[in-house]
Amino acid sequence: MRVAFLGLGAIGRPMAVRVAARHPTVVWNRTGERAAEVARETGARLAETPRDAVLDADVVITCLPTSKEVEALLPGADGLLAGMRKGATLADCTSGDPASSRRIAARLAEAGIGFLDAPVSGGTNGAEAGTLTVMVGGTAEGLERARPALESFGKTIVLMGPVGTGHAMKSVNNALLAVNILAVGEGIAALVKAGVPARTALEVLNVSSGRSFVSENLVVERVLTGAFPNTFRLALLQKDVGIATELARDMGVNGPMLALAHRLYGEARAALGEDADYLEAIKVIERQAGVEIRG
Ligand code: NDP
Repeated sequence: MRVAFLGLGAIGRPMAVRVAARHPTVVWNRTGERAAEVARETGARLAETPRDAVLDADVVITCLPTSKEVEALLPGADGLLAGMRKGATLADCTSGDPASSRRIAARLAEAGIGFLDAPVSGGTNGAEAGTLTVMVGGTAEGLERARPALESFGKTIVLMGPVGTGHAMKSVNNALLAVNILAVGEGIAALVKAGVPARTALEVLNVSSGRSFVSENLVVERVLTGAFPNTFRLALLQKDVGIATELARDMGVNGPMLALAHRLYGEARAALGEDADYLEAIKVIERQAGVEIRG
């Protein structure tokens, strides 16, 4: 199977490295030096344009910030549509939005090209380890065609339903992550101010019913230590919460939780900037509360 991988950002890069270890791979990135590095590291071929990258590909994987950037890659003399062959499949690992994906799928179908929305969960560590969860929207046959490429980085690969449902699932997952980060941050900040050491609070929480992935892993490893590594931009998480909020609204589910989280992450994004890491949302809470969750 010949694979083209486009978009070598924080998570795309380790995914592409794993693909290149298993399949003949061509890489492209907007900032060419990043793709050149991956090509040097893995032996993948370096492409100058998206069209050049996909000419021989059976499966094309994109991993860009939003569906907007994916859609913008389709047209033009250097675009994906100018290069992809009939019968090939585009698997979009971007955490995109369902409506754009349905539009992209329809456009590709006119050219005899398959489409899957295939967003991933598991973070940059999961990408390096090849243990990502892949949430797929599309047909069962389309998934089988792309599966060998997706298995390079995915441990759990699940067909959610038709095109768009992978993105819907991913947005809800990330919206729940986002809500939980704020809730854990507020709760622990209050406990620290009440005189409970942060580490003790987390030790007790993590053997009690309020525990979560956020409290067991993220806060212990990245907040208590003060490490706050840059692995996933807060701007991208806010985008995901926005997609989930819109999905809920479209489905007639009008509760306040997702919309409130979207607003709060929007405020954090404005305060911290486009490059801040998502867990820095807790720093906003700490600043407001006048306390740090460390220990
Ligand atoms: P980054 O911001 O680190 O990387 C974005 C990538 O997209 C870069 O390769 C960038 O190129 C490229 N890009 C940006 N704008 C354009 C454009 N207009 N045209 C072409 N290429 C463009 O993002 P991540 O790698 O973290 O995330 C990628 C996707 O994966 C997002 O949808 C995100 O929500 C999702 N995701 C991320 C996770 C993570 O832990 N980081 C986890 C799960 C999902 P350049 O190098 O030139 O800037």
